[in-house]
Amino acid sequence: MEKQADSCTEKENILLVVLPLWGTQIPPLGISCLKDFLLRHGYPVKTVDANIRGELKDGFNHYLETLKNYIPDEKRGNFYNISHEVVHNHMMAHINTDSKNRAYIDLAREIIRKTFFTRLDDAQVRELNDILDAYYQKLETYFLQVLEQEKAAVLGISVYSSSLPSSLFAFRLTRERFPHIRTVMGGGVFTNQLAPGSVNLEFFLEKTRNYIDALFIGEGELLFLKYLNGELPAGQRVFTREDLKGETIDLSSTGRPDYRDYNLEYYQHLAAYGSRSCPIGCTFCSEILLWGKYRKRHVNEIAGELIRLNRAHDSQLFLMCDSLLNPIIKDLTHALSLADVSIYLDGYLRADKPVCSRENTFAWRRGGFYRARLGLESGSPRILEMMEKKITIPQVIEAVSSLAFAGIKTTTYWIMGYPGETEEDFLQTLDLIERLKDDIYEADCNPFHYYLTGQVGSNEWAEKNKIRLLYPEEAKDMLLTQTWHLDCEPSREVIYQRVNRFVRHCSRLGIPNPYSMYDIYRADERWKKLHQNAVPGLVDFEDKTTAINENKHIKSLISIQDSVSDSGDFDLD
Ligand code: SF4
Repeated sequence: MEKQADSCTEKENILLVVLPLWGTQIPPLGISCLKDFLLRHGYPVKTVDANIRGELKDGFNHYLETLKNYIPDEKRGNFYNISHEVVHNHMMAHINTDSKNRAYIDLAREIIRKTFFTRLDDAQVRELNDILDAYYQKLETYFLQVLEQEKAAVLGISVYSSSLPSSLFAFRLTRERFPHIRTVMGGGVFTNQLAPGSVNLEFFLEKTRNYIDALFIGEGELLFLKYLNGELPAGQRVFTREDLKGETIDLSSTGRPDYRDYNLEYYQHLAAYGSRSCPIGCTFCSEILLWGKYRKRHVNEIAGELIRLNRAHDSQLFLMCDSLLNPIIKDLTHALSLADVSIYLDGYLRADKPVCSRENTFAWRRGGFYRARLGLESGSPRILEMMEKKITIPQVIEAVSSLAFAGIKTTTYWIMGYPGETEEDFLQTLDLIERLKDDIYEADCNPFHYYLTGQVGSNEWAEKNKIRLLYPEEAKDMLLTQTWHLDCEPSREVIYQRVNRFVRHCSRLGIPNPYSMYDIYRADERWKKLHQNAVPGLVDFEDKTTAINENKHIKSLISIQDSVSDSGDFDLD
């Protein structure tokens, strides 16, 4: 770490990167804001999103399609969702061992079996290994070109769970070929798998000592700046909010998205944010542990930023990356309804009382609210209570209907196999979905995941249940991060059976869970048939030469009689 202390007096070139597999729904928001923040402090910064590279995307698609062909139909579940854990672990093992090694072949087979409950033969596993080999070769060629071209002194990679294998590969390559470049890691991966205080993080730090110089956990911008300025202790490698010694991060002074390095044609939305952390704290979530106290920016500031980005890039559709939009949705959509441009917002929302008011949802629709992503999780009141979701089933029904009435797309997320979920609880979830089928734009489920550290409920579950390793202890060197599960009902196999049953149930009811652009097009057409006030389809936003402003003129088609009357203020009850 000596390098840190003596190299920060000059403003060096900084390269910030996001690697696959992170997706191309939005340009990477974190590094785009960090770029702006560091530019304002005099550092030359370049941002790179490797996710848009066709040859890398093709590698992933090839892997997924090959794997899918080996899994029987009835065990695929929502394949493109649950296969992420398989791809992640297989890719990790691939970079940490010789792919001819017997133990590796057996581990890869086990990784697939633990999610799809299907046993692949040696030839099938080797075929998948060959695809990963080809992927890493392409990544190497591409990333060396980037490093050659950018001539950076500091490489920062923003890492997510799904991009951890590619990121570690890139860090190692950098140290091997460009040893003078300082390497820095940050990003969302520290929320669960590598949560602060976890044994996984401890092991990871040891194993990456030779090729990652510094790690920033949580809010990284101020720490990164101090690191570059040489203001942090030279012997330290991991930095957290605690190292700010009480210095708070004012959201008004953090970076604003700077998208100038990207070709924005690749993305469905632009991204922005208005707050950090979450005011709720559900048991299975890690949001408040990573980000601390909930904070929000002034709504005029957020609206101003959206308008600026709209004018700069001709993009009307924004994904708000806030954990929850509830605290700002009323004021933000009001501010946007007064603007002379139409901006459409997609974001996470909690089904709380104000959402049950059609008057509210209609006003939000006029202000551009386009899609609500709702973590509904379960149709069982008992499970919702155990999760500390602080929502009730009648509220969920009212909220989803109220959003659908206004034409706002309702993307619903469900968790299968929360600890203690019985067959009866699960059937209540299926019943609720059936009841709401015409008001649900899409339904997506996830199996419950347990993390030893990092979730609000981690310790409590560990006290009540035995904890088991999912993969053998010997696999630790290949996987770098271990996976634990709770030895309680429902078992892992039952959880994945419920995922399969959930998917079949939604398919019978005609509720989509779109993956490709064609699927989204069909889901949008269904939504328009079901709801007269439906928002425009995603495809309608593709022609950036013609602005859409139907939200400004939309009128309620029936008289509004609210079943729940509320002011629209944020409500935690
Ligand atoms: S409301 Fe969402 S973001 Fe907030 S704690 Fe619950 S799951 Fe996490």
